[in-house]
Amino acid sequence: KTPNSGFRRILLKLSGEALAGSAEDKKFGIDAKTLDGVCKEIAGVIESGTQVAVVIGGGNFFRGISASESGIERATADYIGMLATVMNALAVQQGLKQVGIEARVQSAIPISPVSEPYVRLRALKHLNLGRVVIFAAGTGNPYFTTDTAASLRAAEINADILVKATKVDGVYDSDPATNPDATRYEQVTYDEVLQKRLGVMDATAIALCRDNNMPMRVLSISEEGALRRMATGGSVGTLITS
Ligand code: UDP
Repeated sequence: KTPNSGFRRILLKLSGEALAGSAEDKKFGIDAKTLDGVCKEIAGVIESGTQVAVVIGGGNFFRGISASESGIERATADYIGMLATVMNALAVQQGLKQVGIEARVQSAIPISPVSEPYVRLRALKHLNLGRVVIFAAGTGNPYFTTDTAASLRAAEINADILVKATKVDGVYDSDPATNPDATRYEQVTYDEVLQKRLGVMDATAIALCRDNNMPMRVLSISEEGALRRMATGGSVGTLITS
């Protein structure tokens, strides 16, 4: 049963950066005001009747690939990165509670005192009860990213769409931060994203969505109400399909 004219269930991919502040000195870690803003956006979607699962990144604390370049063994660096996502997941759970939304964290790396382990059927049960499920620790495997974890979980929970919420309001033909003539796509295919290296998500994540016919939408999390408009059937940001 669809309670609104939009989606029944969405998987929202939030980068760690989405929780950090925009001021230069606040780009590391979690900014309380930014966190609160993100949680209010999620609450708006839940209140409209759409179920929300979240995959959270960890880049505001640690990125395995960058750390491995400075000498930490890649697999170890990736585990540190995955643990960073657990910190963000706990913050989002708490932030949601403060705006009146119940949430559960499920970690791909079991960490029993602080979160449930990832159990697909339990995640589905929470979602059906209107709780937000926050998937932490990515896929649980080094050499992957939380973008790939988002594609995987979206398929596993039969999400209607994977929403990548970033600080940019869609997919552009070049970087809008450096090129003033960059134009935004309304719609683009998975193959075009891969061939033109449009840098929305890593190739593994895009290919997994393509192979599972999982539509994707890229939108800005800092644009108030954009997520809710999208979840209730509006055309926001950029749509990626086959
Ligand atoms: N990571 C990993 N396996 C996964 C997901 C994440 O090893 O399945 C590690 C990887 O080191 C990555 C870090 O966790 O750099 C943080 O995740 P990501 O870079 O995807 O976060 P985001 O860019 O979305 O903030």
